[in-house]
Amino acid sequence: MVRRTVSRSGNVHSMTTGITPALSTASVLAIANTRHGPGGHYHHRAKAGDDPHDHLADGGAARDFLNQLNVSVPDGTPGAESLARLRTVQAAVHHIVAGNRSAARSAVGRLAERARYRLDADGRLVAVRRGWLGFADELLPPLLTLLGADNPPRACANPLCGWIYLDASRNRSRIWCDSTRCGNQQRVRRSRAQRAAV
Ligand SMILES: [Zn+2]
Repeated sequence: MVRRTVSRSGNVHSMTTGITPALSTASVLAIANTRHGPGGHYHHRAKAGDDPHDHLADGGAARDFLNQLNVSVPDGTPGAESLARLRTVQAAVHHIVAGNRSAARSAVGRLAERARYRLDADGRLVAVRRGWLGFADELLPPLLTLLGADNPPRACANPLCGWIYLDASRNRSRIWCDSTRCGNQQRVRRSRAQRAAV
């Protein structure tokens, strides 16, 4: 009798295919977080009404932001076509966070139309295209992981932040991107508001 191990959680992470994506879900989240609230940067005090940022506005800004997040990126700066594809990845994750799976799926479909892969000697799924276009193609497999995850990414509850994260806590109760930062800020704000209301 052949016994198959079936994942209890049904999580895509637990499937063993023997094929490793070249990039991780962390890289996809970094792309998603190129767009965030005005308080999404460390050491930056934002106030309500400040504009959100989008670091995919131009190639240099995109590269610098991803470097800051320690994402290993290709040489040079992304051109117009690569930026457009990175924006599609960004939008897809924001759709997943918003619970809009059909919009996320159509974004994924647009990425899949052009992407081509080969397996390297280590069994890694690498893009046929090189440079930033290949980088964008390699974001697709981990993006599919996020799309299929039963514990999808969420946005930080701090409205000025909106940073997207994966909640790995046991009871999935995390609401801040970082409890020492956004969590504390919000606690301070709440207690100030309560004191002011007395
Ligand atoms: Zn936050």
